[in-house]
Amino acid sequence: MSITLSERVNRLKPSASIAAKKRVGELQAAGRHIVDFTLGEPDLDTPAFIVDAAIAAMRAGQTHYTATQGIPALRQAIARKFLRDNGIEIDPARVIVGNGAKQLIYEAFAATLNPGDEVIVPSPYWVSYPDIVSVNGGRPVILPCPEEDGFLLSPEALEAAITPKTRWLILNSPGNPTGAVYGRERLAALTKVLDRHPHVALMTDEIYEHLVYDDAEHVTPLKVAPQLAERCLLVNGMSKAYAMTGWRIGYAAGPAALVGAIAKLLGQNTTCANSIAQAAAAAALDGDQGVVAAMAADYRNRRDRMVEMLGAVEGLRCASPRGAFYLFVNVAGLIGRRTPEGVVLETDLAVMEYFLDAAGVAVMDGASYGMSPYLRLSFATSLADIEEGCRNIAQACARLASA
Ligand code: PLP
Repeated sequence: MSITLSERVNRLKPSASIAAKKRVGELQAAGRHIVDFTLGEPDLDTPAFIVDAAIAAMRAGQTHYTATQGIPALRQAIARKFLRDNGIEIDPARVIVGNGAKQLIYEAFAATLNPGDEVIVPSPYWVSYPDIVSVNGGRPVILPCPEEDGFLLSPEALEAAITPKTRWLILNSPGNPTGAVYGRERLAALTKVLDRHPHVALMTDEIYEHLVYDDAEHVTPLKVAPQLAERCLLVNGMSKAYAMTGWRIGYAAGPAALVGAIAKLLGQNTTCANSIAQAAAAAALDGDQGVVAAMAADYRNRRDRMVEMLGAVEGLRCASPRGAFYLFVNVAGLIGRRTPEGVVLETDLAVMEYFLDAAGVAVMDGASYGMSPYLRLSFATSLADIEEGCRNIAQACARLASA
């Protein structure tokens, strides 16, 4: 007899971005040249001073289990970061460190959801939110936030979606996959709605905080609505800002009871985050923040080039994102067109497959992020790749005939 899997795991979809990474890897291993715009991570390397801090930590013997909540030096550095970058005072006792922001989001839902509890997920959303909610017994309530409103949640839509079973609202700003950034006014309007519904907690995922462009400003909801402190989990991490995805360090700040419950889960799960990576993260947060600004400037140039090249392609429409490192491109203009092989492109998934086959360019389909017909293209890749990939996409689009 074979092993039966749990209902819990059967409910779970594999991560679309991890699946895309695997598929690109397989095509490349088979000898195909693929320009990869699926990447959800910086192509840049971790700055040298952070790597040096990790080596120093190893040499100093920081190679043991740490406190489950994280080493005091890192939690204090995180508290200093909150004050410096976000203008909020957070007691290090209310900070917890995990193996990436993803783990903390997972454990926060594991710690709070009972079967049938609802979590409001504005869409387009980061692929993992609905599945992390479902695997923990919750019900994701997807609220479409259309392009016409800048892919931002409106206070009216939020008010209408709240029920007695609502436990959480997730806000992700700057957002993956759209790059939408919530400004002070919109945050004030949304948090006002939450003021009227004290049973709803706020999870604010700020992992792209430092990647904002033009006149966009990152504002944490807690700065606008400090009264929510007792029901807000602020999630952030080292992955995107410091090009540290593989180090797996995320952190969160929240009410003591929730942080304690997450710590209880981590204690039975991973014990603690990697001790060496924690030391490196403390050095990163306390070190020269110029490296972060330099990376953001680099991404802005890449964004501008990608927007310029794709904006000139008939059938594609893309606004310039104000944050993160993705373009969420509207492909409605390609739907219904016919490929040279006679296939009619009916969905964004079909367009994604056409780009992979005909242009050798890997992108993500909008459906995976809850909105169609769109594609997500990452510009966290070299300018040379951006130029080659966009050229190939333009040529592939030019070969399409109207059906
Ligand atoms: N939140 C969002 C919106 C993301 O896009 C990602 C990674 O892609 C994460 C969280 C996870 O980050 P980490 O590497 O810290 O687990």
